[in-house]
Amino acid sequence: MRIANLNGRLIATALGGAIDIAEASAGRFGPDPQGVYDVWPDFVEWARAGLADCQPVPYDAAQLGAPVPRPRQVFGIGLNYREHADESSMDVPVEPTVFTKFPTAITGPFALIDLPTSTVDWEAELVVVIGRAAHRIPAADAWAHVAGVTVGQDLSERTRQLLPPVPQFSLGKSFPGFAPLGPEVVTTDELPNRDDLELGCALNGEIMQQGRTKDMIFDVPTLIERLSAIVPLQPGDVIFTGTPSGVGHARKPRRYLNPGDVLSTWVEGVGQLSNGFVDDTGTQSAPSPVYESKGR
Ligand code: ZN
Repeated sequence: MRIANLNGRLIATALGGAIDIAEASAGRFGPDPQGVYDVWPDFVEWARAGLADCQPVPYDAAQLGAPVPRPRQVFGIGLNYREHADESSMDVPVEPTVFTKFPTAITGPFALIDLPTSTVDWEAELVVVIGRAAHRIPAADAWAHVAGVTVGQDLSERTRQLLPPVPQFSLGKSFPGFAPLGPEVVTTDELPNRDDLELGCALNGEIMQQGRTKDMIFDVPTLIERLSAIVPLQPGDVIFTGTPSGVGHARKPRRYLNPGDVLSTWVEGVGQLSNGFVDDTGTQSAPSPVYESKGR
């Protein structure tokens, strides 16, 4: 099953069309795309038969918003691919490196995104959506607590992120629009192999990142085990599971996003984001004196 957010309403997508869930279920499930995760097991059970007789209607994909618009908690995992840890000149972590992207950073799969500075970078990621409350869950049971997966970009303002003396991962990755998600949340039974998916991103058509989720240092079940050992995971929470190598900040010379760029981000069998960028540097003052504006 694939679900999405069409103009703020929960839909299932099938055969290139949309099924409005509130209408198809005669109000049993509400129109709020975020609310469905609170009743996920009931929804999945209803959908087996409830969607079968529905006639999907054509829709405009440009109207899709984030399929998980208001998670209570957003987890980001740093350095979860060995080659990315290497390119970042960081040690391979022995425990997951965790930060948050504040939920106001979430935007739609085809959104136009403001660039607050000239040092904004890309990170293509598989994003996991929690479908059942999970506290102290062993890895072997972890996938049963997942509603589905989607595609995410962990956009990162590197100057703020790496500002000494203590790096500011959460703020540097939480400017408005820095967490595009979508286009759909896909249940893992739709995937060829939920533990080994190709993912990547391309900038103006040039491939920047290309990896496989099997190369994660901490795979999805282990991430859920380690996170839920400390934090009770709530339905509708999302986990950005880390990015493979090929980010702009690690390139020589370094590369960042510019106004007018188009960034495509995909996960095999899950979907593809396409985000454009506009210049916002002229409309706000620099947040700190050491903040590099690079003359823009
Ligand atoms: Zn990331």
